[in-house]
Amino acid sequence: MSELGVKDWVKQLVKQDEIDKYLVNGKDFIDEQHIYDTLTNNRKPEKQQVRDIIQKSLRIERLEPEETAALLHVEDPELWEEMVAAGLEVKRKVYDNRIVFFAPLYCSNLCVNNCAYCGFRNENKDEERRILTMDEVRQETEAVISEGHKRMIVVYGEHPRSDADYIAKTIETVYGVKKPARHGMGEIRRVNINAAPMSIADLKKLWNVGIGTYQVFQETYHKATYATVHPTNTLKGNYRWRLYALHRAMEAGIDDVATGALFGLYNWRFEVMGLLQHAIDLERQFGIGPHTISFPRMTPASGSALSIGSNYLVSDADFKKLVTVLRLSVPYTGLIITARENAQLKKELIQVGCTQTDASTRIGIGGYTEAMKELSNLECQNQEIDKQQFILGDTRRLDDVVRELAEMGMITSFCTAGYRCGRTGDKIMGLLKSCTEGKFCKLNAVLTFREYLDDYAFPETKAIGEKLIEQELSQIREAPFFNKGSLLETFEKMYQDIIKGKRDVYI
Ligand code: SAM
Ligand code: SF4
Repeated sequence: MSELGVKDWVKQLVKQDEIDKYLVNGKDFIDEQHIYDTLTNNRKPEKQQVRDIIQKSLRIERLEPEETAALLHVEDPELWEEMVAAGLEVKRKVYDNRIVFFAPLYCSNLCVNNCAYCGFRNENKDEERRILTMDEVRQETEAVISEGHKRMIVVYGEHPRSDADYIAKTIETVYGVKKPARHGMGEIRRVNINAAPMSIADLKKLWNVGIGTYQVFQETYHKATYATVHPTNTLKGNYRWRLYALHRAMEAGIDDVATGALFGLYNWRFEVMGLLQHAIDLERQFGIGPHTISFPRMTPASGSALSIGSNYLVSDADFKKLVTVLRLSVPYTGLIITARENAQLKKELIQVGCTQTDASTRIGIGGYTEAMKELSNLECQNQEIDKQQFILGDTRRLDDVVRELAEMGMITSFCTAGYRCGRTGDKIMGLLKSCTEGKFCKLNAVLTFREYLDDYAFPETKAIGEKLIEQELSQIREAPFFNKGSLLETFEKMYQDIIKGKRDVYI
């Protein structure tokens, strides 16, 4: 496409009326002065006040900004310990002891924007540019399926060549790939995407091809910082177009939406408050908050001085605090920790209450296929900074991470049932808040873990996994919830069917 063609595409993309309709008296939901005042007024919370807030969270009620601000200022180490324990308890109540895995698939690093922190930005001439053909998408998907994954998040730079039509085609392509496993066929059963904000009409195209979750990170909620790192002459420079991306998705029918902030651009307490305001506004306008929240921490990117030298880089200790506070503030929402973080920190954050993570991650365009060629497996040792968006902290294979979690008593779930049974949006929110979804998830986690152990697990993982699955089965058989009606009977039959080789059964 000519440079003029790209410019014309950029010019027609933003639909001002699809921003204005969500404003209240011309104002968006980020009132910076109010956030600063709330943070200042709740700087010295009393012990009892903090404990009362923790109790509210344990009742699976979303916290108010004042309560979140108070938690963000806790200094007493004993109280932090109580908050971490409560976070894990919240997770157990809502999601049980399971972790959901996914693999990212980077389809294109062509980008019209110039985000100061990202290796894909237009002005980074060191980056090797590439967009996958559908054949390449198929090959990448096969490699991901071979690891045992069932969920994918597909990622794109913002460019006319990776517009909504291209994205829709990639989603359809991924769903169409089948790859033989030890028993039957493996496939991706849920395709989520991380892509730029779009119009309602474009989002409907994604809905029509069966998108799972639509994920857009606001990066920073602080307007002046946003303007500094996203030049105003670029598409991404439009703060409000991005701020209402998830509102438009809801309107287009995509009711599983995911937000996030790129931690390291501005003050981390402010960003947590911004994320909370985002959840509150989605609740106010659509009755449901975000399906997940992500908190990527800025990591070194090709040619980006900011990614190394920002004044706001978040320490490990503060990172753990902010994840803990988010866990307590938005108890019904999934929290995602990615392979940007190293293995040890990921492990700790899962114990703080994260619910989803990735593994065997490759973020170079065509990275999975290349890894298969080079190493005949996905152990990723060399990362080439000019071929990927940023440097990863954890490059272990899925099987290694599954085994580590099983050793910690956590079951890996490859369940994609909620989405396919219509348990999305307000239906799943209701089930999460009443702690019912977690119970269905437990059953589906066991069913999909059985599939994984039989189809993909290495012997050591299988041995540890078998012990864990036995414990899960005993808990299920003893729990009154599962003994009501014919639920247990249905589950036992499905479990036996899987052992006999049947696949993709769920409750
Ligand atoms: N281009 C789309 C966009 O910007 O929304 C989606 C893809 S972008 C590749 C996905 C996310 O990567 C961004 O939203 C940003 O938060 C994150 N990211 C960019 N540079 C990063 C860095 N240096 N370290 C960690 N995360 C980064
Ligand atoms: Fe492009 Fe997204 Fe990277 Fe910004 S963060 S340069 S929009 S790929």
